[in-house]
Amino acid sequence: MSKIVVVGSSNTDMIAKIERIPKPGETVIGGKFSTAAGGKGANQAVAAARAGGDVTFIARVGEDMFGEQALQGFVEDNIDVSHVLKDTEAPSGVALIFVDEKGENSIAVASGANACLTPADVAAASDAITSADVLVMQLEVPLETVEAAAAIAAENGVRVILNPAPAQPLSDELLRHVSVLTPNEGEAELLTGVKVESEKDAEAAANALLAKGVKSVLITMGPRGVFAIDSDCRELVPGFEVKAVDTTAAGDVFNGALAVAIAEGKPLKEAVAFANAAGALSVTKLGAQPSAPTREQIDEFMNSRT
Ligand code: ADP
Repeated sequence: MSKIVVVGSSNTDMIAKIERIPKPGETVIGGKFSTAAGGKGANQAVAAARAGGDVTFIARVGEDMFGEQALQGFVEDNIDVSHVLKDTEAPSGVALIFVDEKGENSIAVASGANACLTPADVAAASDAITSADVLVMQLEVPLETVEAAAAIAAENGVRVILNPAPAQPLSDELLRHVSVLTPNEGEAELLTGVKVESEKDAEAAANALLAKGVKSVLITMGPRGVFAIDSDCRELVPGFEVKAVDTTAAGDVFNGALAVAIAEGKPLKEAVAFANAAGALSVTKLGAQPSAPTREQIDEFMNSRT
């Protein structure tokens, strides 16, 4: 089995479906409440585990009910949680989400323990990182922690997939440690200054990132698929047409499945097609982690579309 380490965030999404999003100072009554496991890191870890990876998650949760529930979910997905630390001071990360009748949302993330994941935490888990096939990260934990983990991986020949979300400027040193960078269109624009609308724009943005030392760039373009570029490949790998119900976490599911395909040694284009299938399946179901498909579902879906 391919070994994947994910360093990143775990949140509990607390969702109120309400007629309209309250204005400052206003109370709106009559909503429906639900909770769901989320956080980009956790979503990617779960997606990779279901897609067939042997996954270790490096993260911090609080010593509270939300952290316990998150841990239980990881264990159910056969994720190694020996490096998920329980922070004794900070609460578990939560995302407070309002969704109105039109499906518009408004989200506040209280990072809590996610903001307390340190370079020392990843250094303490360096054995897990150096023995992995692929390290996967996003940007919902401190940047210095992401930089430290990328350096450990790169120095030991472990490939690094970085999903630069939520977008923020990145140092050239970090980019040099990245094997596969997976921005969406908006994130690619923030990193390069190139507005990405067409395939040509995507190529220009991807070239700018290659010039900074990233080995492969995959710009995810929603239902259109992915503009993929590396030394052997330069093309739009088309997405799969599906009936979208909820696009939450499509990018996370894409990254988790991509990690498995790359760890298994699939060439870039094939790995992207596999991840596109996982991403497409995820938008046909509600929720973040509940929507991540199993390996069987991905393989079956790909067979049905060829
Ligand atoms: P993010 O969620 O990070 O903004 P995207 O919206 O680009 O990322 O989605 C990531 C990937 O998920 C896409 O490249 C594609 O493979 C798949 N995907 C997303 N939305 C759809 C959709 N409506 N139909 C089919 N595939 C989709």
